[in-house]
Amino acid sequence: MLLRDVSGHRSVLDLLARALARDTLPPTLLFVGSDGVGKRRVALALAQAINCQSATPAKKGKGGQPLTACGTCESCQRIERGVHGDVLLVEPGDSGAIKVDQVRDVIDRASYRPFEGRRRVVIIDEADLLVPEAQNALLKTLEEPPGASVFVLVSSRPDVLLATVRSRCPRLRFGRLTAAEVTETLVRDHGYTEADARAAAASADGSIGRALGADSTSVAQAREVASRALQTATASADPKRRMECAKDLIAKNKKKGAPAADREALALRLRAMTSLLRDVGLVLSGGNDAGLANADLGSEVMKLADRYDGDRIVRAFSAVDRALGALTVRNASPKVVADWLVLQL
Ligand SMILES: [Zn+2]
Repeated sequence: MLLRDVSGHRSVLDLLARALARDTLPPTLLFVGSDGVGKRRVALALAQAINCQSATPAKKGKGGQPLTACGTCESCQRIERGVHGDVLLVEPGDSGAIKVDQVRDVIDRASYRPFEGRRRVVIIDEADLLVPEAQNALLKTLEEPPGASVFVLVSSRPDVLLATVRSRCPRLRFGRLTAAEVTETLVRDHGYTEADARAAAASADGSIGRALGADSTSVAQAREVASRALQTATASADPKRRMECAKDLIAKNKKKGAPAADREALALRLRAMTSLLRDVGLVLSGGNDAGLANADLGSEVMKLADRYDGDRIVRAFSAVDRALGALTVRNASPKVVADWLVLQL
């Protein structure tokens, strides 16, 4: 995965490319943003751009061209395979934490000159899982990184890090990806069909990780149920009819039956509903069809757009949001959540 092949994150990538071209890349960086949007991938792509054998220093920045990796040289390939001697990836072990020994080990290795590359790149993934002792062990190194080394800390929860660690690392913020960017990545890098990718991306809230975590049949089913519930709820003000679609929303998945699975199934359906409502809002505000996350369900979205107006869509959107919160954070019962929600749509 080269920097130029990364989906989305244009401003972050431009910033990195410019810093590389001018040789002003800070020796410490903190990549922050939601899980699964590609922070670690960008860190590895950056390591390739730094150490690519074809991108000679003479080519750097010529005519404003950003420095990019070739993807085919020995160095690029070794980084891709995770066996480059100068690119060190630290991540949580089985204990779910990054221990002080792991950190001491990379600090030790980073103090030598790079073996094969131009600069040693140390990537600490899920840095918020560094135990406090490990963070303290890192402090001095982050303050005065060994020459020819770059430390990239990656985290979706940077506020958990010690303030002393945070203050030593310039922060680069990664936004959520658009549904189109998630779809493109699933097709290109993960072998999804266009239809499966679209279905998975629609409910993934801009995260490739989340899209990959959900299996495509249950996502497609969740979207069907969510769309049907919205159609029924908006077609009738009769509470009885609406309660029927609450039943549909919490209907058991054929494959699973455990209470946790029921909760997860409803959450998936509600996320699909959020995505559909967002599309309806886009249509109502005169947005472009191409921007729809559920473009393949275009006619259903249009039907809903006829029934909603600007105020009602905002209320429905926030009701689904509250329902998701009640379900996933406060552990409310799926039935109570669904019964309440269908009356708010
Ligand atoms: Zn290369």
